[in-house]
Amino acid sequence: MIDAAGPRLRDGEWSSWARTARARPKRVALPRDEEEVAALVAAATRERERVKAVGAGHSWSDAACTSGVLVSLDRMRRLCGLDAETGDVTVEAGMRLSELNAALACRGRALPVLGSISEQSVAGATATGTHGSAPGLGNLAAGVRAMRLVLASGGVRDLGGARDEPLLLAARVGLGAFGVATRLTLRTVPAFDLVEIREPLPFDAALARVDELRRSEPFVKVWWLPHTPTAMVVRYRPSTGSRTFSEAARALDERVLNARVLAGLLSAGARWPEAIPSINRAVASAYFRAGETVGPSHRVLNLAMPPRHDELEYALPVERAADALAYVRDVIERERLRVDFIVELRFSAADDAWLSPSFERDTAWIGAYIAQPRDRARYFDAVEERCLAWGGRPHWGKRFSASSSALAARYPRLGDAAALRREVDPTGTFDNELLARVFGPRT
Ligand SMILES: Cc1cc2nc3c(=O)[nH]c(=O)nc-3n(C[C@H](O)[C@H](O)[C@H](O)COP(=O)(O)OP(=O)(O)OC[C@H]3O[C@@H](n4cnc5c(N)ncnc54)[C@H](O)[C@@H]3O)c2cc1C
Repeated sequence: MIDAAGPRLRDGEWSSWARTARARPKRVALPRDEEEVAALVAAATRERERVKAVGAGHSWSDAACTSGVLVSLDRMRRLCGLDAETGDVTVEAGMRLSELNAALACRGRALPVLGSISEQSVAGATATGTHGSAPGLGNLAAGVRAMRLVLASGGVRDLGGARDEPLLLAARVGLGAFGVATRLTLRTVPAFDLVEIREPLPFDAALARVDELRRSEPFVKVWWLPHTPTAMVVRYRPSTGSRTFSEAARALDERVLNARVLAGLLSAGARWPEAIPSINRAVASAYFRAGETVGPSHRVLNLAMPPRHDELEYALPVERAADALAYVRDVIERERLRVDFIVELRFSAADDAWLSPSFERDTAWIGAYIAQPRDRARYFDAVEERCLAWGGRPHWGKRFSASSSALAARYPRLGDAAALRREVDPTGTFDNELLARVFGPRT
């Protein structure tokens, strides 16, 4: 059964999952098919109204915010076809990654890589460059072979005839700036199992191994809970062993441990920030345990849904991986920040999408996360400033405050993307505040 309820609105206000982005759209549209999308976009352009597509609303940034028409593709989430020869799958853009994972698993296929959750829509996840942690694999958008886009005129454009088509290179990680995606075709691989290997290590030992790990492991990430001495190295390797992943244990983690125990501890930390180091040490000794789990890739790569919190994440040249982790530890200590959520180090391979944070660069991702509000701004500002100095590029779906000139210096094709945007959306139908920050004022 498809839940086509559309985006969450309360008293006319839309908010993102983490409630970090809020908007008051003039109205919400829930089209049933591409024709309805095209008609509403054409009408909006005629009336000079703004339109913004929203996926599952799981970005921390204001990427999906609008005061105009909020278009949800929650009624457009069918699987359109799986090409038996190439393995490419075509889906309607509102389909959730979790729905796609399940549909692919039934057909013996899988996405090559996933991030920590699959609640996002396919179009929303690719539009911000959502990534997992596989040093040799690109982000989710790197797997987009083709897409159909409703342009501001209401015309429909099929992209993907040629891999180097400029509009496809711009729109794959397109932030909703070039049109409303109605269908996407993605690369899939034969379904595979992974063994997740969790290894707690002293922080400095983990730091010393970062470069070796990213060179040798197909999937690897490092977690560190601030104010504790231990980091956790998590590797995922292909496996043919017996499956030990349990749906019941995952549900328990999600509904009890994360939603109640961890959420309760985060509330206590928000109230008494000076207690955070002790809380973190208790949490780390309970959670950061050695262990292994074998299961289907899409279940093992995803985590139990975490409690609400805030995130900033930067894409850095891969050689900066260890520096970045060390810097975050140092700044937390030096500034006496009280950080109640993990710091995460992940990897993805270079790709060719113009606005991808991994554009033409193998990438180390440093994620700074926090739930308590008191130290959030100081924490994010310090990490962002350092990352920008290293040539870092922000995750578009997370918090960032970099200016358009800083972004232009770090995204070599931003100017080309801006020119293409002027061509396909001359009157700014798809504009919002985030795009104004990214592209600068329209000239
Ligand atoms: C708990 C949690 C865990 C996360 N884990 C990861 C992770 O592991 N790795 C990672 O990289 N990110 C992660 N994210 C971030 C998340 O993947 C991105 O913010 C993603 O863009 C959210 O997808 P969405 O469907 O909710 O899109 P939304 O947030 O609703 O929208 C994002 C952007 O997509 C555009 N868009 C949506 N639909 C369309 C369409 N049909 N056509 C054109 N544009 C469209 C919107 O306009 C907006 O610009 C996580 C987020 C949460 C809340």
